[in-house]
Formats: sequence, structure tokens, C-alpha cells
Amino acid sequence: MFLVMLGAPGAGKGTQAKYLQADLGIPQVSTGDMLRAARKEGTELGERVQAVMDAGQLVSDEIILDLIRHRVAQPDASNGAIFDGFPRTLAQAEALGALDGVEISGVLLIDVPDDFIVDRLSGRRTCRQCGTMSHVSYAPTSVEGVCDVCGGETYQRADDNEESIRKRMVEYREKTEPLVKYYSEKGVLRKIDGVGEVADVTSRLRAALEQRS
Ligand code: AMP
Repeated sequence: MFLVMLGAPGAGKGTQAKYLQADLGIPQVSTGDMLRAARKEGTELGERVQAVMDAGQLVSDEIILDLIRHRVAQPDASNGAIFDGFPRTLAQAEALGALDGVEISGVLLIDVPDDFIVDRLSGRRTCRQCGTMSHVSYAPTSVEGVCDVCGGETYQRADDNEESIRKRMVEYREKTEPLVKYYSEKGVLRKIDGVGEVADVTSRLRAALEQRS
């Protein structure tokens, strides 16, 4: 089963994909996480994408599709994957549709009004070790700066500042939002209300997946 998590930055795609991967037994495939891993390792790719990412712009389709082709060829993705943050452009969606052995069975659109986004992203913290996300006001860790799940250090992403957040919103509106129409015309889109407690949104997503099957 191949699923796509769609939604604006900060809608909760990554957080929810982590829960769903445990439920469904298929891996979360986050292009953002893959790019951040490349940066952390200091690879040539990591260096190439650094400035673009920190400015809140999209990395080229070519780079992203290269990453995805390699990732879906891994054995753990042979039964499916949950794409998180991919596709982000029509060209990416079309290339995904043309990949051998990958049929998209559902696209889950997590809907969150713009007013929530800046607040959610500017307070967001991510664990360096396990990637679990927290929020300084809405979902704080028990000890500031320390992940509740693994004890790793939490940090603020370089692109979670107001200027980059605004740019990411513009990129989303211009380049990613057209995918809502694209996938609804294919009859695979389901819209889920992304406002509220994390666990409530997870329940809504599970219900949407059950309805679909
Ligand atoms: P994310 O972790 O999904 O918020 O992605 C962080 C940043 O990585 C984005 O703002 C882009 O710069 C880049 N990125 C991640 N996924 C993609 C994608 N599918 N297409 C283009 N750029 C991407």
C-alpha cells in the first residue's frame, strides 16, 4: 500500500506518518528527513541543498526523484510506503505515478488553516536522534531540550523561522496545492481535519483509511 501525506508545512504530516507506519507496517518515506540526513553526513548532495532548504524553497525535482527512486527500491518498501513531504510538485506526482510497482492507493490531505501554521512551526522542536517532534507550548517535552522518547537532544530546524516559514507557505500554495485537484480527480484524495490533539487527528486518519479499504 503506497500512501501520500499531503498538507501545508506544519500540518502534521511527519508526526502522523510516524504513527501510521507502526499501524500499517510500511515505512515513512520523508524526503525532508533524507535531505537533512545528507546534510548531517556532509555529503555533496547535502551541501548542494543546504541554502535552498534553509531559505524555505523547494529542492529541484531531479534531486528529489533520484532520492525516491533509490528509496522505493529498498526491500523494506517492497510492500508499500507512506510518502511524507513528497510529491510537492505536479512533475513529482507524475513521475511517482509512472514508477514501476508503485500504485498510489490513497492520498491523505491534512487540512490546517494558515493561522495555525506559523505558530506551530516556530515552536516546533525535533529530536536529533529519533526525529520525534515536540512543541514548546502545545506538546512540550518533560525536560526542556530533551526528547521524551529517547533522551536525545531536541533542536529547532533552521527553516522553522518566520521568514522561511512564509516562503514555504508560498511554495506550498503555488507548487504543491495543485496536487489536491490532481489527486481528487483521480478519486484517491481524502481530506482530514488536522486541528486538535495529535491523537484525535490520528484517529481521523485511521477512520479515513478504514473507509477507503
Ligand atoms: P520537510 O521536512 O518536508 O518540511 O522539508 C524540508 C525542506 O526540504 C523543504 O522546505 C524543501 O526545501 C526540501 N524538500 C523536502 N521534500 C521536498 C520535495 N518533495 N520537493 C522539493 N523540496 C523538498
